[in-house]
Amino acid sequence: MKPIIPFISNLPVNDKTAWLKQLQVAIPEERIDLAEYIDPADLNKTQIAIVAGPDLDLFKNLKSLKWIHTLSAGVEGLISTAKNNNLQIVRMIDPNLSNAMAESVLTWSLFIKNKVPTYLLQQRNKNWNQLTYEAANQCKVGILGLGEMGKTSANRLLENDFQVLGWSQSKKTIDGITTFYGKSGLVDFITQCQILVCLLPLTSETRGIINHDLLKKLPKGASVINFARGGLLITTDLLEKLDSDHLYHAVLDVFDQEPLPADDNLWIHNKVTVLPHIAAITNPETATKIVAKNIENYRNSGRLSEFVDLNKGY
Ligand code: NAP
Repeated sequence: MKPIIPFISNLPVNDKTAWLKQLQVAIPEERIDLAEYIDPADLNKTQIAIVAGPDLDLFKNLKSLKWIHTLSAGVEGLISTAKNNNLQIVRMIDPNLSNAMAESVLTWSLFIKNKVPTYLLQQRNKNWNQLTYEAANQCKVGILGLGEMGKTSANRLLENDFQVLGWSQSKKTIDGITTFYGKSGLVDFITQCQILVCLLPLTSETRGIINHDLLKKLPKGASVINFARGGLLITTDLLEKLDSDHLYHAVLDVFDQEPLPADDNLWIHNKVTVLPHIAAITNPETATKIVAKNIENYRNSGRLSEFVDLNKGY
């Protein structure tokens, strides 16, 4: 009999079913099924679960569970459950996802550098007005977080002539990129960023990091792109800095509440571009192959080669 791996998800039923089919194709050696359809006695024996926006209650029934594989890069919603249940988390690390993010970072950095928000407003007002052009090599983009997403995005910006700065927890050396690290490096970093791109994980250390104090240190006319998680940004502080003209524009892909409620003023703010969490969408074909590989490696070796540091929270 094939070993059973539950797929735990609170995604809409169509998405859940589509993922399940793709997982079954990628991992034919195992029986992958929705957790709610697996016999409780079998659930109790399983060591591995695959999760996507999971229903945390279901973990209670998995008494032999050792580790979980997420279909997303962000794991903030799973850290405390993993700690409480002594589980390891293997998160989605897929070069396709990092490439998609890098393309989004480049797209929206160009959107800001080339003043597209102003041209869109001018069109609405039938205003024919040519603004000064600034070359990419005159524009400094700073990336908060130089992990899987941040590194690839930084390099993509560099290939497109931007001046690139990056900030991380630990010291990094990346060719062509000016790097800063730790709390002590944040001010030197932030005061230089004309475009600030957030690609940090949401942890107890980073929650609310893009707040009044940080935003006021950005140069006047700077812009903010948040492609990481809504909880990293204090929206009221951002709006205050946009409305007072300290900041030029914000591109937001992630929010405290998703979908963004229809009555939220961000939707209609002239200086905000709202995106529906699409900066980097997991590709089911490549992602399920990665899950399959990690499960195969575990079955062969009994070990996990890479997992989330539960104390750091990412
Ligand atoms: P990652 O590989 O874990 O990288 C995290 C980076 O942040 C690392 O460079 C880390 O520094 C740095 N960092 C963490 N805590 C820090 C702190 N307190 N101070 C300074 N630097 C800190 O994460 P990732 O896979 O690149 O993902 C980045 C973000 O993108 C996550 O929030 C994820 O949820 C989000 N995301 C969004 C989408 C979307 O569609 N919008 C898609 C995918 C991912 P060290 O390198 O020194 O550890």
